[in-house]
Amino acid sequence: MKKLLAALVLSLTVFVGRAQECGTEPAPQYILDALERLNLPALVAARTEDDTIIYVPIQMHLIRSDAGTAALSEADLFTAICTMNVRYTDAKIQFYITDQIFYYDNSTILNASDGNSISSLMSANNKPYVMNIYFTNLGQRGLNGYAWYPNSGPGSGVRQGGAVMSYSAVMNGATLSHETGHYLSLPHPFDGTSNNPLMGERVTRNFNETPPRLPANCYNAGDRFCDTKADKRGARWGCTYSPAAGDTDLNGDFFWPDSSLLMSYAGDACRIRLTDEQMAACRSTLQTPNDRGYLTFLPRPVQPSINSAPVLTLPANGATGLHPNFTTFAWDPVPGATIYRLRALSNGVVVDLDTIIRGGQTSYFHGHNKLRPNRSYQWEVTAYNETDFCGNPTSTRSTFQTTNFTATSVDEGFFADLQVFPTLLERNGSIYLQGESLNGKRLQLELRNMTGQLLRSENLQLEGDAHFHTELNTSGVYYLTIRHEGYRIVRKLVVQ
Ligand SMILES: [Zn+2]
Repeated sequence: MKKLLAALVLSLTVFVGRAQECGTEPAPQYILDALERLNLPALVAARTEDDTIIYVPIQMHLIRSDAGTAALSEADLFTAICTMNVRYTDAKIQFYITDQIFYYDNSTILNASDGNSISSLMSANNKPYVMNIYFTNLGQRGLNGYAWYPNSGPGSGVRQGGAVMSYSAVMNGATLSHETGHYLSLPHPFDGTSNNPLMGERVTRNFNETPPRLPANCYNAGDRFCDTKADKRGARWGCTYSPAAGDTDLNGDFFWPDSSLLMSYAGDACRIRLTDEQMAACRSTLQTPNDRGYLTFLPRPVQPSINSAPVLTLPANGATGLHPNFTTFAWDPVPGATIYRLRALSNGVVVDLDTIIRGGQTSYFHGHNKLRPNRSYQWEVTAYNETDFCGNPTSTRSTFQTTNFTATSVDEGFFADLQVFPTLLERNGSIYLQGESLNGKRLQLELRNMTGQLLRSENLQLEGDAHFHTELNTSGVYYLTIRHEGYRIVRKLVVQ
């Protein structure tokens, strides 16, 4: 818990509220009907007595630029989920991550001006039995995030819907928890009232008002909760509400919305909580098979908490003369760790490398995001696993120095672990490409004959291995050029 709070304080001090909105549609009628059917007082009492924590797995999907860059690191996203865990602690709902992170390097989708491309992506890639969260840039659409209520959105069944978060809003401490609230059936407190305050939810909580005053309707209007104050404010506001003269309901009572409610449109800095009835409704959604009950289908991994920091081994502390473009980092395994974050800071300040290494691997070949030549570097590693990723201890920093950038030797080094075989081919033969450090990357291939004439070109995504059909029917000598991020190597091929 101490670690969770540390993560929370960190996230709040860095980002303060932005006035962008939530793009979630008003709750559909079947959601409102389902909320009305809940016996909320009984569920609230049950939650208080029931100490069972409901664990929800999260699949993170990161949309990045064509070049593979994103506005936040994966570790920042871990921190945001840690903050959400603080927000949902009283609800006895906790989120954990899956080891795998899905990446989509596509600038068009990243900066899309409508939701079509991301919805298509969700239809195709949503994983079953988890909460699918897509991180992208919603700046073009003026949105912080949006989500789908149960039984709506792209995909179907146990992989339907999810949440979409704008990178700019991930660290504000409120938006992710807010969108997750929608995903778990919570409407905005102003739903149905902001567009018609006179006919919406009334301010009074007295069910036996004396006529002509009208009684409370909070279980059948607005968000269907009586412990969230009636709210008519459907646009972003701050942390202090100042009602205008006409901000009254049918009884003439002033609306005084509660800025502490996560589901409201108050400022991000003050939106911090769910009410008892909202928590009970979220739990009910997770306990109802036809809503989000499938999220509890997968067994939560049994993992120890991470109690120690990694010990760095390579490059040796104080090493000099390292090549900026292909440095291998290594550290000793930490018990229980399946995920590591590696950061390298040039001159101890500028973050040139910040990456997540999954699958329990304890080394990383740095061949893509180039380190700078002639710099002193500090680097560090933090260990995580799927259930313990909040405020974990980071290694002592180690130092190394890079040497000059030597253009003549760079290209071969960049492709150091790329295997290209066979180079002695039958006619019409295929060539296989394999290389761990380039896995998931797009390679451009060009096949030329001895006079330099271009015969074939192809873009290949390296996934495990890839093959390239030469379609060469004539024996002779050919040259295959392989390019990636401005580097290239050439391999000579002989067709028998
Ligand atoms: Zn919303």
